[in-house]
Amino acid sequence: MSDQSLTIALSKGRIFEETLPLLAAAGIVPAEEPEKSRKLIIGTNHDNIRLVIVRATDVPTYVQYGAADFGIAGKDVLIEHGGDGLYQPLDLQIAQCRMMVAVRKGFDYAAASQPGSRLRIATKYPDIAAEHFAAKGVHVDIIKLYGSMELAPLVGLSDAIVDLVSTGNTLKANDLEAVEHIVDISSRLVVNKAALKTKHALIEPIIRAFAGVVQAEGA
Ligand code: AMP
Repeated sequence: MSDQSLTIALSKGRIFEETLPLLAAAGIVPAEEPEKSRKLIIGTNHDNIRLVIVRATDVPTYVQYGAADFGIAGKDVLIEHGGDGLYQPLDLQIAQCRMMVAVRKGFDYAAASQPGSRLRIATKYPDIAAEHFAAKGVHVDIIKLYGSMELAPLVGLSDAIVDLVSTGNTLKANDLEAVEHIVDISSRLVVNKAALKTKHALIEPIIRAFAGVVQAEGA
């Protein structure tokens, strides 16, 4: 696409749904719903603006390399990615949840997580988990999983999990309980640093429109 066009990286599901009102405030309307389409590139009501639909964990990578000019990614994903090459101008306060440690109900976490003890942790977020337990002086064996973390303590794969909790319903349905809060998570706008300069006139009004919605909702 030409220099006067914009590519926006988004993931399907929660983030896409919660991004639609922000896009609308910036006058951008997707031509199709990604949930109903298999297309990975979706046009908009602007000839020069398109959306690319990628996995949530891949959004920072597309933006970092300039394959997308900007995107929306959870803070969880950004912490694990490291944020290289990304400008993060705005907390959009969408897809809000908490990164928590959770265990089977009845597991004596207080006793098992004394400084110097050793725990097996299943998680999609190895860096966040390692840093959290290092700060507590607890040794951990991290088992990297890509989904359904809640299963791990139930079948003896791990003592605990580090995962996102929103309503708490998933933990409850699986007889797990949250025992420690690590960090609050929400989605951020991430902009390619070079694109912010070369396409400033296109990107800046969109950032301003997004900021207006965030401010109005927080008021
Ligand atoms: P809940 O049952 O509402 O607490 O949601 C928990 C499940 O949804 C877990 O499997 C989480 O990994 C996932 N989840 C919750 N919030 C988010 C979020 N903001 N982004 C991605 N996954 C999430």
